[in-house]
Amino acid sequence: MAFHVMLVPTLGCPSNCSYCWSSEEGSPVMSIETIKEVVDWLGDFREGPVTLTFHGGEPLLAGYDFFKEALPLLAEGLGHLKPAFALQTNLWNLTPELAQLFAEYNIPIGSSIDGPKELNDFQRGKGYYDKTMRGYEIAKFHNLKVSFICTFTSYSIKFKEDIFNFFLEEGLTLKLHPALPSLRDENPEKWALPPDDYGKLLIYLLDKYLENMEDIQIMNIDSLCKSVFMRRGTVCTYVDCMDNTFTVGPDGNIYTCYRFVGMREYVMGKVRDKPTMDDLSKTAPWKLLQEYKKYVDRECGKCNYIKFCRGGCPYNAITPNKGRIRGVDPHCTAYKTIFKEITNRANKEFLGSSMGMGTSASQSKKKAKVGVMSIMLKRY
Ligand code: SF4
Ligand code: SF4
Repeated sequence: MAFHVMLVPTLGCPSNCSYCWSSEEGSPVMSIETIKEVVDWLGDFREGPVTLTFHGGEPLLAGYDFFKEALPLLAEGLGHLKPAFALQTNLWNLTPELAQLFAEYNIPIGSSIDGPKELNDFQRGKGYYDKTMRGYEIAKFHNLKVSFICTFTSYSIKFKEDIFNFFLEEGLTLKLHPALPSLRDENPEKWALPPDDYGKLLIYLLDKYLENMEDIQIMNIDSLCKSVFMRRGTVCTYVDCMDNTFTVGPDGNIYTCYRFVGMREYVMGKVRDKPTMDDLSKTAPWKLLQEYKKYVDRECGKCNYIKFCRGGCPYNAITPNKGRIRGVDPHCTAYKTIFKEITNRANKEFLGSSMGMGTSASQSKKKAKVGVMSIMLKRY
């Protein structure tokens, strides 16, 4: 069965985004020895295919030599798992040499920008926008596919129209993230996007997407519509991620998701010990996440959307409660809002199309309007 391994070469990051909850100053950088241990560990860990995502912190801080050595080791050593690579980076340290290397391995890039320069730099720090755009130009020159995560905060939500228009005009693929409460901050909720606002934002973006489908891609809206259509989640937030997601931190510690990296209580083992699935399943973090799965079955059992929501993200649910399971993902309200909207619209469109079955081709063409079904049936 397909699985996902995230490799976090470092938690260090040169930018200083106001709402960051994950980077860590002075974090070590992963050694090539650790990559060799990853290859040894995954060699007979389980069947593929595997996606290997370099994440951070800022992974490019590991430097060209690291990637030049790591990529062939992983691609060849794990050839039997048919590895596909991905990279999440702010692009500041992308050089033509790195871009050429990533192009050779066909690596899609996820980067981050929060909207127009002034707004972006207000949230992410002065100079961020120009440095990321410089890297984006290099990536484009080497034909690398880049999509951008846009973090919506309690502040930037007021400018949602400007942000959408920015992505549309710049021709950038958009993936949105709601800002999470920062566990490192004295005032963790300062930037966090309240769940109600997040739900309304998703509906707003659904409408904007339908008006502009020819000119922009909004990845979240695609996956939400697909999930409703297929009756199963299509991104990690809406599946039981704990069974198929693993992360290796800079020091070779193994976690489930990258979001837990650096939190000692979530370490499940070390790559150099080559733990089996059976070994991992005996650890406390693994058991905690399996407990969350059972909790969702109970708590969300009557929810119409449980099949394609699965209680949302366990990190969001568990970490604010200091490792105790006290509720599902706090974004539940937003998920319900958008799943309900998509389901209702799809039902209406379906009913409308079957009632219009007797109309002539020219009549139905005239009536045809882009709706959620067009997103559900979209091919990539
Ligand atoms: S913990 Fe959350 S972010 Fe991490 S893989 Fe699971 S759903 Fe995704
Ligand atoms: S929408 Fe809320 S209640 Fe329904 S499955 Fe998701 S988290 Fe559970």
